[in-house]
Amino acid sequence: MKESTALITGITGQDGAYLAQLLLQKGYTVYGLLPQRSTSHRWRLDELGITEEVAFVHGDVTDLTSLVKILKEVQPKEVYNLAAQSFVGISWQQPVHTCQVTGTGVLNILEAIRIAQVDCRFYQASSSEMYGRVQEPVQTERTPFYPRSPYGVAKCFGHWLTVNYRESYGLHASSGILFNHESPLRGLDFVTRKITHSVANIVNGEQDQLRLGNLESRRDWGFAGDYVEAMWRMLQQKEADDYVIATGRTVTVREFCKQAFDYVGLDYENYVVIDPQFYRPAEVDVLIGSPQKAKKKLGWTPQVKLEQLVAMMMEADLRRIREGKRS
Ligand code: NDP
Ligand code: GDP
Repeated sequence: MKESTALITGITGQDGAYLAQLLLQKGYTVYGLLPQRSTSHRWRLDELGITEEVAFVHGDVTDLTSLVKILKEVQPKEVYNLAAQSFVGISWQQPVHTCQVTGTGVLNILEAIRIAQVDCRFYQASSSEMYGRVQEPVQTERTPFYPRSPYGVAKCFGHWLTVNYRESYGLHASSGILFNHESPLRGLDFVTRKITHSVANIVNGEQDQLRLGNLESRRDWGFAGDYVEAMWRMLQQKEADDYVIATGRTVTVREFCKQAFDYVGLDYENYVVIDPQFYRPAEVDVLIGSPQKAKKKLGWTPQVKLEQLVAMMMEADLRRIREGKRS
């Protein structure tokens, strides 16, 4: 017998793929919202071998009518909103689009749940980018927000709407304030995967340098597989709430780079070239989160350390080259 029914927006993204895998393993029927694209974006689900197990429904978080229709049809018990234009760098080039998808998209889903009168629990993928210019040395659920990009601003909008719908309508709506989390399925725009993918190319003789921006910014990097477990745990709580999900350790982009090059026995200083085009108009210098509340209330702790994460990503990118696969 099926355990429950979940709808995931952003199912073709990094977290959507891992979350779908987790819920399928738990016996859920998983529906995935699929926006119209000219080519298939399902490579992550293919790589996990779960594409055939997901029921796809065509819709877009910017299209309220599609969401109402889908919710009425699917009647999910849990809705995970992971859809976003999630790349901070692009959010300055496409601020309106970013705010429509990453901000208004949240409102559309919350309104669709109300209009369709679906009895479900809701998860919003909030972000440590909301802390931006950090107001406290270690960020908790109580640290004030100070976003530094259109993406961060849009995430604040989605976060506060989630809180507001919980308080206004009694919706079981939780917001996970997730710090950066990576994996072999991370998009190539993000600095970690850009690094591991480039190192693999360099080893294979296909690239001779790696062009990066600010090497001194610090991030609290965890493993996406651990973080989707936290999302699920939030929706199993009696009361909805907000949680920081982080490792509590922060390292520089430089250090991540060094570890990735060290993994294949190369010195990063011989390959990395600083390119001003990758600097941002406003930077988030340092992020470090406290997962204490998640540990206490959800029983959640991160399992994968940074060194293991780097090794996992390097192995995957080296393997893809061996197998002639590109993603
Ligand atoms: P990805 O960028 O990998 O995935 C984003 C997903 O959203 C993709 O499936 C994308 O589909 C989908 N999407 C984009 N636009 C729309 C739209 N208009 N309608 C429906 N779906 C759409 O992100 P991640 O998996 O890394 O992150 C998941 C969520 O968590 C995002 O909301 C992100 O902002 C947030 N987050 C992520 C963090 C991280 O470190 N990974 C940290 C904190 C928060 P397509 O590929 O077809 O465009
Ligand atoms: P973000 O924390 O969501 O913005 O995740 P990213 O992986 O995109 O960026 C993390 C940090 O790496 C930011 O401080 C960037 O300025 C820095 N960075 C340095 N060089 C690059 C680069 O070439 N690409 C990206 N994406 N980030 C870079």
